[in-house]
Order: sequence, then structure tokens, then C-alpha cells
Amino acid sequence: MDIYEVIWSGVLSYLKENTNEMVYNTWITPLKINNIDDDLKIAYLEVNIDKNEDLVLNVIKTRFIEYLEKGFALIMGAAYRVVVKKSSEYGTSVKKDSSQVEMNIETEKKKVAPLKKVEVNELIKEKLFNPSYTFDNFVVGPSNQFAYSVAKAVAGSPSETYNPVFIYGGSGLGKTHLLHSIGIELLTNRPELNVLYVSSEMFTNEFITALQNNKLMSSFKNKYRMIDVLLIDDIQFLEGKEQIQNEFFYTFEHLYNMNKQIILSSDKQPDKLVNLDKRLTSRFSWNMVADISSPDFETRVAILNKKAENECIELDDDIREVINLIAEKMKDNIRELEGAFSRIIGFSKIMNQKIDRHFARKVLTDILSNTESQVTPERIKKMVAKKYTIKASDMESTKRTANIAYPRQIAMYLVRELTDNSLPQIGKIFGNRHHTTVSYACEKIESDMKYDENLKNIINKLKSDIKDN
Ligand code: ADP
Ligand code: MG
Repeated sequence: MDIYEVIWSGVLSYLKENTNEMVYNTWITPLKINNIDDDLKIAYLEVNIDKNEDLVLNVIKTRFIEYLEKGFALIMGAAYRVVVKKSSEYGTSVKKDSSQVEMNIETEKKKVAPLKKVEVNELIKEKLFNPSYTFDNFVVGPSNQFAYSVAKAVAGSPSETYNPVFIYGGSGLGKTHLLHSIGIELLTNRPELNVLYVSSEMFTNEFITALQNNKLMSSFKNKYRMIDVLLIDDIQFLEGKEQIQNEFFYTFEHLYNMNKQIILSSDKQPDKLVNLDKRLTSRFSWNMVADISSPDFETRVAILNKKAENECIELDDDIREVINLIAEKMKDNIRELEGAFSRIIGFSKIMNQKIDRHFARKVLTDILSNTESQVTPERIKKMVAKKYTIKASDMESTKRTANIAYPRQIAMYLVRELTDNSLPQIGKIFGNRHHTTVSYACEKIESDMKYDENLKNIINKLKSDIKDN
């Protein structure tokens, strides 16, 4: 008996104790240990009978994985993931005589109930899907409508609609959310399918680990060639990594030729992935390429409404106003949009303060100053002119009276502080003045602020008013 057999017999005795005899004889006896991957902590089992293989496989996957994993955890003293496949899929297929099992199956068949919600939840956890990344939680708008429909179609009939599917879009626009939604829907409706979600980074790390050991390499290959639906995220991560691209190419070819469903995501469209093998990028655009763009205002509001609903926050007038405020400001990244909202909710809880527009503004100020700000020299000139009740055009004029020259110097200083313009550029903006005039103004205001507390306050107030637009 080799070491795997010893471990397996330990797991079997655990199962014997924790199931009834009929269940054990019907579903567990057709199983054999195939391999144990100690580094990745995966135990590979095979179903080894000549009839009803699919049924047994299905029942094991949906009803007994948890027991099997508990058994392994007990014997190995560490958490192991259990993967079950047909023997033929491992290339070993000496079948056990199944006549006894078959008889049992006939009586047991009737008892195989559809998956319960708890079982699905377990599966979602086991497969590392984020349970809140579902289609139900995905707000559809013009920016993502197409990608959403494609994802829905593929989740409904994998390998029968579009293949491969390539979804691309900027960071924080919902690519991972959509990939998980497909996975979760498949786990729920088609538990017999072997669905795998993996980031390109995880794929890379597994491959690098496997490179160190032949046994690991064969289980890595096995794992990726046995998939029915592969969801692979952020494929741009493979750019410039030739050996891994090569391995991914073979995985892709294998799965595609077996008519398995492949869904990829990326931050760029295929032909913009210039540091990726042409063989890959051309395959990516073979069938369906769908993009996600930045959401419009209504979609942004709808996303925040949904979030409020999920967090059981009542949508009163104050909250609606705050949602509008955030949606006006955060345009290009849904992660940041949601983050801003969560932050306001979080702060209001900590500070025990009601959320209103005023409170929201206060919390948002620092987030907003970090995001693409609307601070322009024009805005600065306008705000400073307003504060000193002069005309904005005076900023560019040749007038040199103190009531105009001083605010002009303040405005120059603020343009220098708050924008990326160089001294000569600032000179130009202020009526074609020489850059030494600008640098003199900046130095003067800086040194005045050191002793003039009042000026310092005025400037700080101006700064925050300028940023808070
Ligand atoms: P990406 O993978 O494109 O960088 P994610 O899928 O991680 O973006 O999305 C970022 C966050 O925004 C997640 O919390 C996700 O749930 C949320 N999100 C993105 N798009 C939507 C949408 N259409 N409806 C609801 N939430 C969304
Ligand atoms: Mg992502």
C-alpha cells in the first residue's frame, strides 16, 4: 500500500462512520485516490466504475465533497480541497465491477434531490466566488448592457452561444463581478459542470510552482485540462511573460478544441495587448468581444441605490441627495464610487451622526481631492476675484494697484500649488507676465503667510472652496 492508499483508507473510515451503509456502498465505494498534491493542498479522487459514472460523479460533487474534505482535513491535519473526476480523465481506466453499485444506485437514484440553497452557498465558498457578485446585484445600464447580455447568455448555455468570450474595460467597471456572476449562476443551475475562476496572476503562480516538480506539473495540467468552463480574469497580467503565455496557449487550445467554454477579461481590447503572443490575441477576438465603459450618471445613482438597499439603508431625501452628490463626482470607477459611499456610511456610524449633504461633503473632501479634480487656473482666478470683489479679467490686466495686484499674486500662488502648470505657463495665464514675476509672487505669499495668520486662513479657505466644486 502506498502512502496515498494509507491516507485514503483513513478518510474512508471517517466516511464510513459518518454516513449510512447504503450511502457508503453506493456512492463512496466507486471512489479511488488518484493523487495528492501537497503543495497546492488538493486531493484528486477518481470515479472508477463502468456504468453510471456521470451520475456518481455528479452526486459526489454536489453532496459529498464537504464530507470528503472533512475526512482529508482530519487525516492530513490541514485543509485540502478535493477534486473528483472520471478515471478516463486521468488516463487510468481499469474499471471496477459495478453490478452491486448499480443495484444500489437504482434505489438511491430517486433520492438524489436537487441542490439546496445551503449546498450552493457551500459551493460558492469552496470555489472562491464572492457571493455578492451575482447577476442580481449587477446594475445594468448603457455602459455595460452588452457585456451583461453576453455574460447572461453564456451562463445560460455554456459552449453553445459565444466562445471564447472576451470582456474588457477599465479598472473598477465590473469585469470581475460579471465573471463571478457567470460562475455562481453555473454552480447553481449546472452543478455537474466543472467551473473554474482564476485570476491570471493565480494561474501564473500555480504554473511557477508546478515548474519545480514533475508531479506538480502533471496535476497542474490535469487541473486545467479538466475544466468545462474557464473564467480567467485580467489576462493583461500575462503580457511580457512568454513561458506562461505558452502554457496558457496550450490550455486554451485544449479546452477550445474540446468545446469547453472560455471567458476572459482584460483592461484592454485584444489588439491593444501588444506584449501578448499574437496567437493568443487573435484567438481572443475569434468570437465575442464585449466592452464595458464608464457608467452614466443614472447608472451610477442606480448602483448606489442598490448598495443602500443591500445595506438596509433607508432611501430618504438626505440619502438621495448624498447619492446624487457622490454620483456627480465619481465618474470613472465603480469601486471608488462605492468606496466613497461606504466611507460616508462608516463615518456616520462611528461618529453617530446622521448622513446629510453637509456631512457627506466633509467626508468626501479628501477623497475628492485625490480623484481627478476640477481645479483649473480659470476656476482659481474666478474664486480669488470673487473673494476680493474684483473682476476676473483684472487678473490678466496690467493694473498694478494693490487692491488688484495682491489678489493676483495670491491667485498665482494658488495656481502654482494646486495645478501642474510651470512658472512660464502661469505667467502666460496671467496676461503674459514674465516667469520671474510669478516666482516672486509665490515667494511673497508664502512668506507673508508665515506671520499673517489672517492671510493663512483666507488662503486655506480659498483652497478648500476651490477644490470643493
Ligand atoms: P473590475 O474587475 O472591472 O476592476 P470589479 O468587478 O471588481 O471591477 O468591480 C468593482 C466594484 O464595483 C465591485 O464591488 C463590483 O461589485 C462593483 N460593480 C461594478 N459594476 C457594477 C454594476 N454594474 N452594478 C453593481 N455593482 C458593480
Ligand atoms: Mg477585476
